[in-house]
Amino acid sequence: MKKMLLPHVNERKTPVEMLVLHATAHNSEDAVKCLNENELSCHYVVGQKGEIIQVADEDKRAWHAGVAYWRGVDSDLNSRSIGIEVCSMSLGQEAFAEEQIKSLIALCQGIIKRYSINAKNVVGHSDIAPLRKPDPGFAFPWQRLSQEGIGLWYDNNLMLKENDITILLKTIGYDTRSSGVVRASAYAFCRHFLPEYVQKIDDVSYLVENVLPSDFSFMKEDKFLKVLKAVAFAYK
Ligand SMILES: [Zn+2]
Repeated sequence: MKKMLLPHVNERKTPVEMLVLHATAHNSEDAVKCLNENELSCHYVVGQKGEIIQVADEDKRAWHAGVAYWRGVDSDLNSRSIGIEVCSMSLGQEAFAEEQIKSLIALCQGIIKRYSINAKNVVGHSDIAPLRKPDPGFAFPWQRLSQEGIGLWYDNNLMLKENDITILLKTIGYDTRSSGVVRASAYAFCRHFLPEYVQKIDDVSYLVENVLPSDFSFMKEDKFLKVLKAVAFAYK
Protein backbone atom coordinates (compact mmCIF):
# COMPACT_ATOMS: atom_id res chain seq x y z
CA MET A 1 0.00 0.00 0.00
CA LYS A 2 1.27 3.41 -1.03
CA LYS A 3 1.15 6.36 1.38
CA MET A 4 0.54 9.95 0.29
CA LEU A 5 -0.46 11.63 3.54
CA LEU A 6 -2.41 14.86 3.15
CA PRO A 7 -2.17 17.73 5.67
CA HIS A 8 -5.95 18.28 5.81
CA VAL A 9 -6.63 16.28 8.97
CA ASN A 10 -6.88 16.93 12.70
CA GLU A 11 -7.48 15.05 15.94
CA ARG A 12 -10.55 12.89 16.45
CA LYS A 13 -12.97 13.99 19.18
CA THR A 14 -14.83 10.65 19.35
CA PRO A 15 -13.94 7.03 18.64
CA VAL A 16 -14.42 5.44 15.20
CA GLU A 17 -17.87 3.88 14.86
CA MET A 18 -18.72 4.37 11.17
CA LEU A 19 -17.35 3.53 7.74
CA VAL A 20 -18.26 6.02 4.99
CA LEU A 21 -17.83 4.96 1.37
CA HIS A 22 -17.47 7.49 -1.43
CA ALA A 23 -16.85 7.48 -5.16
CA THR A 24 -14.65 9.94 -7.03
CA ALA A 25 -14.50 10.46 -10.81
CA HIS A 26 -10.69 10.44 -10.98
CA ASN A 27 -7.94 7.86 -11.13
CA SER A 28 -6.27 7.22 -7.78
CA GLU A 29 -3.38 9.71 -8.03
CA ASP A 30 -5.62 12.46 -9.41
CA ALA A 31 -8.14 11.75 -6.65
CA VAL A 32 -5.44 12.46 -4.06
CA LYS A 33 -4.45 15.66 -5.90
CA CYS A 34 -8.07 16.74 -6.11
CA LEU A 35 -8.63 16.17 -2.38
CA ASN A 36 -5.49 18.16 -1.65
CA GLU A 37 -6.48 21.09 -3.88
CA ASN A 38 -9.88 21.25 -2.21
CA GLU A 39 -8.33 21.02 1.27
CA LEU A 40 -10.11 17.73 1.88
CA SER A 41 -8.98 14.25 2.81
CA CYS A 42 -10.15 10.73 3.54
CA HIS A 43 -8.24 7.70 4.83
CA TYR A 44 -7.89 5.58 1.70
CA VAL A 45 -8.32 5.89 -2.06
CA VAL A 46 -8.99 2.65 -3.94
CA GLY A 47 -8.09 2.84 -7.64
CA GLN A 48 -9.65 1.01 -10.59
CA LYS A 49 -6.95 -1.67 -10.58
CA GLY A 50 -7.38 -2.27 -6.87
CA GLU A 51 -4.36 -0.19 -5.85
CA ILE A 52 -4.76 1.50 -2.49
CA ILE A 53 -3.30 4.84 -1.47
CA GLN A 54 -3.42 5.74 2.21
CA VAL A 55 -4.13 9.44 2.50
CA ALA A 56 -4.53 9.81 6.29
CA ASP A 57 -3.59 7.72 9.31
CA GLU A 58 -6.64 6.01 10.77
CA ASP A 59 -6.24 7.73 14.13
CA LYS A 60 -6.63 11.14 12.44
CA ARG A 61 -9.92 12.88 11.70
CA ALA A 62 -10.10 13.16 7.93
CA TRP A 63 -12.32 15.68 6.12
CA HIS A 64 -14.73 13.82 3.85
CA ALA A 65 -18.28 13.66 5.27
CA GLY A 66 -19.20 17.35 5.56
CA VAL A 67 -22.63 18.26 6.94
CA ALA A 68 -24.22 14.88 7.50
CA TYR A 69 -26.73 12.86 9.53
CA TRP A 70 -27.06 9.18 10.40
CA ARG A 71 -29.12 7.35 13.02
CA GLY A 72 -29.82 10.45 15.07
CA VAL A 73 -26.31 11.88 14.99
CA ASP A 74 -25.80 15.12 13.06
CA SER A 75 -22.55 16.42 14.44
CA ASP A 76 -18.97 15.70 13.45
CA LEU A 77 -19.36 12.49 11.47
CA ASN A 78 -15.71 12.98 10.42
CA SER A 79 -14.57 12.35 14.00
CA ARG A 80 -16.67 9.19 14.13
CA SER A 81 -15.68 7.65 10.81
CA ILE A 82 -13.13 6.17 8.47
CA GLY A 83 -13.60 7.47 4.89
CA ILE A 84 -12.74 5.62 1.68
CA GLU A 85 -12.86 7.09 -1.84
CA VAL A 86 -13.45 4.49 -4.57
CA CYS A 87 -12.38 5.64 -8.05
CA SER A 88 -15.10 5.46 -10.71
CA MET A 89 -15.18 7.65 -13.82
CA SER A 90 -19.00 7.35 -13.99
CA LEU A 91 -19.25 8.21 -10.29
CA GLY A 92 -20.58 4.77 -9.48
CA GLN A 93 -23.13 4.57 -12.27
CA GLU A 94 -21.35 1.73 -14.10
CA ALA A 95 -20.10 -1.57 -12.69
CA PHE A 96 -16.90 -1.36 -10.65
CA ALA A 97 -13.93 -3.51 -11.69
CA GLU A 98 -13.55 -6.88 -9.98
CA GLU A 99 -9.93 -6.25 -8.81
CA GLN A 100 -11.08 -2.97 -7.32
CA ILE A 101 -13.96 -4.53 -5.39
CA LYS A 102 -11.79 -7.39 -4.09
CA SER A 103 -9.26 -4.89 -2.82
CA LEU A 104 -11.98 -2.72 -1.27
CA ILE A 105 -13.53 -5.75 0.47
CA ALA A 106 -10.24 -6.70 2.14
CA LEU A 107 -9.64 -3.09 3.22
CA CYS A 108 -13.15 -2.69 4.67
CA GLN A 109 -13.05 -6.05 6.47
CA GLY A 110 -9.85 -5.00 8.26
CA ILE A 111 -11.31 -1.62 9.30
CA ILE A 112 -14.60 -3.13 10.51
CA LYS A 113 -12.70 -5.67 12.60
CA ARG A 114 -10.23 -3.14 14.05
CA TYR A 115 -13.00 -0.81 15.28
CA SER A 116 -15.87 -3.32 15.72
CA ILE A 117 -18.03 -1.20 13.41
CA ASN A 118 -21.73 -2.10 13.53
CA ALA A 119 -23.03 -3.18 10.09
CA LYS A 120 -25.76 -0.51 10.40
CA ASN A 121 -23.04 2.13 10.40
CA VAL A 122 -21.48 1.17 7.06
CA VAL A 123 -22.90 3.86 4.79
CA GLY A 124 -22.50 5.67 1.52
CA HIS A 125 -21.95 9.42 1.37
CA SER A 126 -25.42 9.77 -0.22
CA ASP A 127 -26.98 7.97 2.76
CA ILE A 128 -25.67 10.56 5.22
CA ALA A 129 -25.90 13.66 2.97
CA PRO A 130 -28.91 12.88 0.73
CA LEU A 131 -29.54 16.48 -0.36
CA ARG A 132 -25.94 17.07 -1.45
CA LYS A 133 -24.23 13.85 -2.55
CA PRO A 134 -24.83 11.11 -5.17
CA ASP A 135 -21.83 8.91 -4.31
CA PRO A 136 -20.80 6.07 -4.22
CA GLY A 137 -23.54 5.64 -6.87
CA PHE A 138 -26.35 3.22 -7.68
CA ALA A 139 -23.95 0.66 -9.23
CA PHE A 140 -21.98 0.33 -6.01
CA PRO A 141 -22.15 -3.39 -5.05
CA TRP A 142 -23.74 -3.07 -1.60
CA GLN A 143 -25.39 -6.48 -1.69
CA ARG A 144 -22.13 -8.24 -2.50
CA LEU A 145 -20.29 -6.30 0.20
CA SER A 146 -22.93 -7.31 2.75
CA GLN A 147 -22.19 -10.96 1.90
CA GLU A 148 -18.59 -10.23 2.87
CA GLY A 149 -19.62 -8.79 6.24
CA ILE A 150 -19.60 -5.16 5.08
CA GLY A 151 -22.93 -3.43 5.75
CA LEU A 152 -26.47 -4.81 5.88
CA TRP A 153 -28.79 -6.16 3.20
CA TYR A 154 -32.38 -7.31 3.52
CA ASP A 155 -34.56 -10.38 3.23
CA ASN A 156 -37.71 -9.93 1.08
CA ASN A 157 -39.68 -12.18 3.41
CA LEU A 158 -39.04 -10.15 6.55
CA MET A 159 -40.80 -6.80 6.64
CA LEU A 160 -41.61 -4.26 9.32
CA LYS A 161 -45.38 -3.90 9.92
CA GLU A 162 -45.34 -0.16 9.24
CA ASN A 163 -46.42 1.72 6.13
CA ASP A 164 -45.29 5.25 6.91
CA ILE A 165 -42.37 6.09 4.61
CA THR A 166 -40.92 8.69 6.99
CA ILE A 167 -40.93 6.30 9.96
CA LEU A 168 -39.38 3.52 7.85
CA LEU A 169 -36.58 5.76 6.53
CA LYS A 170 -35.90 7.02 10.06
CA THR A 171 -35.73 3.43 11.34
CA ILE A 172 -32.93 2.72 8.88
CA GLY A 173 -31.04 5.85 9.92
CA TYR A 174 -31.87 8.44 7.25
CA ASP A 175 -32.46 12.11 7.95
CA THR A 176 -36.22 12.74 8.01
CA ARG A 177 -36.28 16.05 9.86
CA SER A 178 -38.11 17.94 7.07
CA SER A 179 -40.37 16.91 4.18
CA GLY A 180 -37.70 17.98 1.68
CA VAL A 181 -35.07 15.80 3.27
CA VAL A 182 -37.50 12.86 3.49
CA ARG A 183 -37.80 12.85 -0.32
CA ALA A 184 -34.03 13.18 -0.71
CA SER A 185 -33.52 10.34 1.77
CA ALA A 186 -36.01 8.19 -0.18
CA TYR A 187 -33.88 8.69 -3.30
CA ALA A 188 -30.66 8.00 -1.37
CA PHE A 189 -32.33 4.80 -0.14
CA CYS A 190 -32.89 3.82 -3.81
CA ARG A 191 -29.25 4.58 -4.62
CA HIS A 192 -28.30 2.04 -1.94
CA PHE A 193 -31.07 -0.60 -2.09
CA LEU A 194 -33.24 -0.10 -5.21
CA PRO A 195 -31.01 1.08 -8.06
CA GLU A 196 -33.71 0.44 -10.69
CA TYR A 197 -35.42 3.67 -9.53
CA VAL A 198 -32.29 5.79 -9.99
CA GLN A 199 -31.80 7.64 -13.23
CA LYS A 200 -28.40 7.40 -14.90
CA ILE A 201 -26.88 10.78 -15.72
CA ASP A 202 -24.03 10.61 -18.23
CA ASP A 203 -22.68 14.07 -17.47
CA VAL A 204 -20.95 13.47 -14.13
CA SER A 205 -20.40 17.19 -13.42
CA TYR A 206 -24.14 17.75 -13.93
CA LEU A 207 -24.89 14.86 -11.54
CA VAL A 208 -22.65 16.36 -8.85
CA GLU A 209 -24.69 19.59 -8.97
CA ASN A 210 -28.07 17.88 -9.45
CA VAL A 211 -28.30 15.04 -6.97
CA LEU A 212 -32.10 14.76 -6.90
CA PRO A 213 -34.50 13.71 -9.67
CA SER A 214 -37.33 15.91 -10.97
CA ASP A 215 -39.78 13.04 -10.51
CA PHE A 216 -40.38 11.32 -7.17
CA SER A 217 -43.21 9.06 -8.35
CA PHE A 218 -41.10 6.02 -7.39
CA MET A 219 -42.25 6.75 -3.83
CA LYS A 220 -45.77 5.61 -4.82
CA GLU A 221 -44.59 2.23 -6.17
CA ASP A 222 -45.56 -0.93 -4.26
CA LYS A 223 -42.07 -2.29 -4.72
CA PHE A 224 -40.50 0.80 -3.16
CA LEU A 225 -42.62 0.38 -0.01
CA LYS A 226 -42.00 -3.38 0.14
CA VAL A 227 -38.22 -3.08 -0.07
CA LEU A 228 -38.26 -0.13 2.34
CA LYS A 229 -40.17 -2.25 4.88
CA ALA A 230 -37.72 -5.13 4.44
CA VAL A 231 -34.65 -2.90 4.84
CA ALA A 232 -36.21 -1.22 7.90
CA PHE A 233 -36.72 -4.70 9.40
CA ALA A 234 -33.01 -5.44 8.92
CA TYR A 235 -31.97 -2.12 10.53
CA LYS A 236 -34.55 -1.90 13.33
ZN1 LIG B 1 -18.34 11.59 -1.19
